Amino acid sequence: MFNKRVKIRDAVQMAAGREEITVMGWVRTFRNNQFIALNDGSSNDQLQIVLELGKFDDGLLKKITTGASVKATGLLLESPGKGQKVELKASALEILGESDPEKFPLQPKKHSLEFLREIAHLRFRTNTFGAVFRLRHGLAFATHQFFQERGFIYLHTPVITATDAEGAGEMFKVTTLPFDSTPRTESGDVNFREDFFGRATNLTVSGQLEGELAAMGLGEIYTFGPTFRAENSNTARHLAEFWMIEPEMAFYDLEDNMDLAEAFVRYLIHYSLKNNRADLEFLDQRLAEEEKQKLQAERNDQGLIEKLESVANQNFQRISYTEAIDILRDSSSYKKKKFKYDVAWGIDLQSEHERYLVEKHFKKPVIVTGYPKEIKAFYMRQQEDGKTVAAMDILAPGIGEIVGGSQREERLDKLEARMREMDIPLEQMWWYLDTRRFGTVPHSGFGLGFERMVQFVSGMSNIRDVIPFPRTPKNAEF
Ligand code: ATP
Ligand code: MN
Repeated sequence: MFNKRVKIRDAVQMAAGREEITVMGWVRTFRNNQFIALNDGSSNDQLQIVLELGKFDDGLLKKITTGASVKATGLLLESPGKGQKVELKASALEILGESDPEKFPLQPKKHSLEFLREIAHLRFRTNTFGAVFRLRHGLAFATHQFFQERGFIYLHTPVITATDAEGAGEMFKVTTLPFDSTPRTESGDVNFREDFFGRATNLTVSGQLEGELAAMGLGEIYTFGPTFRAENSNTARHLAEFWMIEPEMAFYDLEDNMDLAEAFVRYLIHYSLKNNRADLEFLDQRLAEEEKQKLQAERNDQGLIEKLESVANQNFQRISYTEAIDILRDSSSYKKKKFKYDVAWGIDLQSEHERYLVEKHFKKPVIVTGYPKEIKAFYMRQQEDGKTVAAMDILAPGIGEIVGGSQREERLDKLEARMREMDIPLEQMWWYLDTRRFGTVPHSGFGLGFERMVQFVSGMSNIRDVIPFPRTPKNAEF
């Protein structure tokens, strides 16, 4: 068996031993022809491999370069050097894969995140991305654990859909029709009857509508899968392909929905604090360094772990949209015309408004409820006032909207009326409306953008740095 190795995460915790162990990994640095700093991705710990002078031939030593992969066997000894408890005194060393130091793009120095994005295939070998992707994994695992503990069913909704009614964003078309001799109808439109599915299809923007169907039989479900939006917004919090977690629950009203969403966000943070502590400590340090580069006035006085602890341990602020508008209009930022976008009842809150509420006014996450129906989707439950819907968004410091959800309209007549107002073809949605025809119940759900959550917990400022291979306008490398 080849892979009889100890992971470095475990090796650095072991006591100096009597038995030889084998480790494998990638060389981070090699000093004085004697000391290899080896990392294998199991954590950011590096095991020092000590090569006795004269024991290994020059040809081999030359091949120990940054980026090369090696297999080392030896005894763990107490390390006289500082920074590590033990080191491995190599009795055997094998080069698994060489790495030409002239060509290997990762040098043992600090690279910019922008540069690392261009070599996203190699950035897994850096401390920052090691920490980010272990954290991301932890959050995905915690998601399943959270819903498992509450008896939710993990539902796989389709990636290819024919629904274009959601209005969540521009969609990517899915087709096998040829581009040169596209079949046309008599009126000159593209004839989708000849397409693969016999109709126009797209990549999904959300699994919600199908999620609702399942909740109307299974009770409580959640989806966790990729979603796609062809929105041409080149921001630090939008991707064309991102992962979303969407629970849908029968017998939940808006308040139940908020309680679940808040519990979920806080659970994820608690999980990371407990299970990804070392990586969070690394990212905390990293962020502190980054903050030092900023002007005093723009610095964040709260560290990453401090921020996470405060968010996980206190209740989120809950306010209505109308209250939010009042607070914004009363703010000095508004009076001094510091907002780029105007504030009036009826607007969609812009990111600058969301951040004011969260970072300046309340200094904690805020749940805003009761948005004007004009700026929200057709399926949200209409409230008594005739103007607002039972929507709720969770706004987080540094990120803005992290969760968007609502109580769904369960009354067939109200739903149909709203769909007509919004020109949504009722016939095409017959299956969705059937749930309101047969045994309709009050129900709710929300969507949490997974990358936004990873951004929040990791403190990474650009969403491109929390997904392995980001898809954004004009970029689909790797
Ligand atoms: P935003 O206003 O930030 O564009 P949205 O209102 O379009 O968000 P929803 O349609 O409610 O968002 O989607 C649910 C969640 O998915 C959002 O709260 C957010 O966390 C996440 N999300 C939405 N669009 C994107 C995107 N392009 N990239 C990454 N995450 C996204
Ligand atoms: Mn959007």
